[in-house]
Amino acid sequence: MFDKRDFYIDGAWCKPAVARDHNVINPATEEPCAVISLGARADVDRAIAAASEALPAWRATPPEKRIAILEEVLRVYEARLPEMAEAISTEMGAPIDMALTSQAESGTYHISNFIEAAKAFKFMRPLGDGTPGAMIAYEPIGIVGLITPWNWPMNQVTLKVIPALIAGCTMILKPSEESPLSSMLFAEILHEAGVPAGVFNLINGDGAGVGTDLSTHPEIEMISFTGSTRAGRAISIAAAETLKRVCLELGGKGANLIFADADDQAVQRGVRHCFNNSGQSCNAPTRMLVERSFYTQAVEIAKKTAEETLVDAPNKSGKHIGPVVNASQFEKIQGLIETGIKEGATVLAGGLGRPENLNRGFYVRPTIFTDVTPDMTVWREEIFGPVLAIMPFDTEEEAVRLANDTPYGLTNYAQTADPARRNRLARSLRAGMIELNGQSRGAGAPFGGIKSSGRAREGGIFGLEEFCEVVSISGYAEDLD
Ligand code: NAD
Repeated sequence: MFDKRDFYIDGAWCKPAVARDHNVINPATEEPCAVISLGARADVDRAIAAASEALPAWRATPPEKRIAILEEVLRVYEARLPEMAEAISTEMGAPIDMALTSQAESGTYHISNFIEAAKAFKFMRPLGDGTPGAMIAYEPIGIVGLITPWNWPMNQVTLKVIPALIAGCTMILKPSEESPLSSMLFAEILHEAGVPAGVFNLINGDGAGVGTDLSTHPEIEMISFTGSTRAGRAISIAAAETLKRVCLELGGKGANLIFADADDQAVQRGVRHCFNNSGQSCNAPTRMLVERSFYTQAVEIAKKTAEETLVDAPNKSGKHIGPVVNASQFEKIQGLIETGIKEGATVLAGGLGRPENLNRGFYVRPTIFTDVTPDMTVWREEIFGPVLAIMPFDTEEEAVRLANDTPYGLTNYAQTADPARRNRLARSLRAGMIELNGQSRGAGAPFGGIKSSGRAREGGIFGLEEFCEVVSISGYAEDLD
């Protein structure tokens, strides 16, 4: 078992102020794989003092120099990619091939995209023609608190740390206590790449402790949070007293509208997307709406796809899915499957209990419900496991109404060969992201939602702007620049 009790503060690994051990559990074995410390207020104060000390020099560092350090971060990150995949696979159960090519690789993708966005970003720009001396400056917001979940650890950490570094902020990262190992490796990467002491600090902890200390701290100007809607609400309330900026990326219950003229792969693609990462993605298309004339056929394809989805150990090579992250998620998912059955939905594939080949580890059977009605729990609640609900529809209007009838609004999907309908749906489905015919978002596109999915926008210039204050200057001597 790894001893990972130290925190990274002011450019060095150091002991926590108070000893409070927490075991990190490998979800495939249900055994501890590492021990970390849960931080206390004194650790947060110490990290904030370091971030405060480092802020003036870092914000005064020219953007080109900050970008050059980021290029070095990218180089070191790529060199340590297999280690990163190993850490992610161990802590949260992603199968090793997927941990490398999707989970760890998402970090490479975001770092590269942010470097591109930063090179084109004008931190100082004229307001416009006809307003001489009027300038807009994008200044770093200051010390930021970054709180991340366990489901796509490096995806979320890089979506926050990298733009904060580019903007000139200093920061304290609190990764999920379920998946701290990848973030601790990331701290080593930043150190090796030459990020100056105090600019980036990492403290492990739980939501009630370090999470709340960061959210309430008067010296922290902004909290960037990804996680559950429950915690997003708690953080907003905790942060209100100090009026900090709060950027939230929360849960989802994505709809996937499949019309009878959709391409041959549409249903299979939708099912696989829902089950990817064992269903633990906020943007998973978990509600499949199928045009009635194609419904019977779609249900058959979905059943076959679920039955072909293999579940197996994360340390095995292959395209299977792994366990879910922990015992409480496992129990929650089992409870929701049970509720689906009690409320009268039909189990088309999967169901309660572990897959037959596995008797230890938090493995869930890829499950599909049919005969679902819009008031059922499995249709309304985010399950965060490999569970899909399918429902037929008769008209486009009905499909849009059913899709939009949710408190969430992260990603909606539609599959149809009709381009005019695609464009109509792009404007009538309510979500921060609309993906049509299986085409994923382009590099630098913003990621984020509306309503209970939170309203942050991460990635590209949108994600960079979140870490900046927009300053309006008049009377500026432009000719001196
Ligand atoms: P969680 O909210 O329990 O925990 C996320 C992080 O917040 C952890 O670091 C945790 O320690 C911390 N935290 C918990 N309560 C807190 C509090 N009161 N104050 C401050 N910090 C607190 O979520 P999770 O179970 O780790 O992640 C799963 C959830 O995250 C799902 O609902 C999923 O949809 C959502 N998610 C959203 C996105 C997105 O971009 N929209 C991406 C990934 C995950």
